[in-house]
Amino acid sequence: MARSDAGGGSPPVMLGMQMPDFDRWSSRVVTALGQNPSAFTGPGTNTYLVGTGEEKILIDTGDGRPDYLPVLESAMEFAGCSRLQEIVLTHGHPDHIGGVQSILDRMGPLRVRKMPNAAFDAPYDFAMEPLEDGCIIETEGATLRGIHTPGHAPDHLCFLLEEEGGVFTGDNVLGVGTTIIPAETGDLGDYLASLEKLLDLTPTKIFPAHGPLVEEGSAKVQEYLDHRLEREAQIVRALETGADQVPAMVKIIYAAYPESLYAAAGQSVTSHLLKLEREGRVARQPDPATESDRWQLV
Ligand SMILES: [Zn+2]
Repeated sequence: MARSDAGGGSPPVMLGMQMPDFDRWSSRVVTALGQNPSAFTGPGTNTYLVGTGEEKILIDTGDGRPDYLPVLESAMEFAGCSRLQEIVLTHGHPDHIGGVQSILDRMGPLRVRKMPNAAFDAPYDFAMEPLEDGCIIETEGATLRGIHTPGHAPDHLCFLLEEEGGVFTGDNVLGVGTTIIPAETGDLGDYLASLEKLLDLTPTKIFPAHGPLVEEGSAKVQEYLDHRLEREAQIVRALETGADQVPAMVKIIYAAYPESLYAAAGQSVTSHLLKLEREGRVARQPDPATESDRWQLV
């Protein structure tokens, strides 16, 4: 899941952005687009064929729509890939894991690996092998190192491509806009710590799960950190000026954005408020009249 949400100027909205069905982004990386465009996924989920040999790793699988399989097969042919070595998932959101079963049905049994999460993994019948922070996944010409990066999702792994210093960032860093931190299952504090972890890797390229290749990886991660701090400052200012409920804050902070994004924006504002609450900087009181909370600075 993703959302276009960068500050300043006209909003860079990912919906409507055109991306090729498949493309080569490095000597080791070929993309295959998930064919699942939407307000949340932009042009759709980027899935990646990784390696230089005939057998390659597939990172992520889209959400399972039939149009993806012929695109994946064309991408494999384009990449010189006769079969998949295995499937590796960044996390268990449906637009990443949802295509696994149809790939297994089409191509036969394959190893599928991800960081386990009982709630996200429950709907799926195929076997999954566990990955953890620091895991190494190798194929001909490429070595991936898993980096546990919770915040957007508790089971989120980014993968450092050791030979190039590029990072597959999943939904943690996107090609355009910023990621959603779901108020229920996400955690903004964890997310910021995960961005710091990525910054420590000084990534060269970023291969995001949505949107185009990012050539200046470290600068992009820093931009994401700055963006969140700026958003937090905007929320504090909104509270200071008397907006004490999420919809009112969204109207002020996202004034330049289409209202169709306000529900997602509300999630983001709520995630910030929960983080500020944990830090003892804001407090809330339930408001029976509106059945939602009223927030104030402490
Ligand atoms: Zn996601």
